[in-house]
Amino acid sequence: MKEFSAAAKAEGKKIALVPTMGALHDGHISLIDRARSLADVVVVSVFVNPTQFGPNEDYDKYPRQLEADAQKCREHSADVVFAPSPSDIYAPDASTFVSEEQISQNLCGLSRPKHFRGVTTVVTILFNIVKPDFGVFGEKDAQQVSIIERMVRDLFMDVQIVRAPIVREESGLALSSRNKYMTPAERDGATRIRKSLLAGKALVDDGCTNIDRIKALVINTVTDAKTRVVYVEVVDAKTSLPVSELKIGQCRISMAVWYGQTRLIDNIII
Ligand code: AMP
Repeated sequence: MKEFSAAAKAEGKKIALVPTMGALHDGHISLIDRARSLADVVVVSVFVNPTQFGPNEDYDKYPRQLEADAQKCREHSADVVFAPSPSDIYAPDASTFVSEEQISQNLCGLSRPKHFRGVTTVVTILFNIVKPDFGVFGEKDAQQVSIIERMVRDLFMDVQIVRAPIVREESGLALSSRNKYMTPAERDGATRIRKSLLAGKALVDDGCTNIDRIKALVINTVTDAKTRVVYVEVVDAKTSLPVSELKIGQCRISMAVWYGQTRLIDNIII
């Protein structure tokens, strides 16, 4: 991969990297298409990164389907699928990590303590190997892209981070590789997540600026017998940091819920 990138750069080509954990769906594809529009060479990494999973999380059962993923990448004119194994990426005695220490303390960082350290570490490693001019990330994981933007700024990394909008099913459910864990009935129930975000946004559109009220409405709307709310927060749309005052168009409702056995996240700009 390093040799390939060095050769492409020597020819003056621009490289865009789309980091993924595979089980590619139309959300990932939208990122690949965006990358295609930005650069001469599109690299899609497929790597289920062990360091971003907690001890009791779904690392082992996470869907792996490299052949199908490669086919989708081919259909969307990606140039390279970079699919290393964990031992390609991490030496047995690897002991160096990259951690962002402000944004990652909130939202998903509270319930997944080492998750973002794993993400920033692997994204740094991927950037060092692929040396992309552009890194394309989805706003589905808005906190993640905020953290990566902060890391790139703080560490003077030579890569431009590009944000791509959330792709949804017709039902409103945000596409996620983890949707595979749900039964059809659960997927149907999980559309409450989008509905609750839209209810929150409608309240704001009606003139409400009281963050507590907005959060309460979202929590009430999402809750049914299968829902366990992890968090609902109003944050700055760019940094994902908590806000004390609502600024119209510059804030985001971010939420995580367990729906049955599946942990889902979603967000909306308000
Ligand atoms: P993942 O494979 O879940 O780690 O996601 C890889 C990239 O795809 C991340 O930048 C995600 O934000 C992005 N992504 C995942 N789902 C979606 C979606 N429904 N819409 C847009 N981007 C997404």
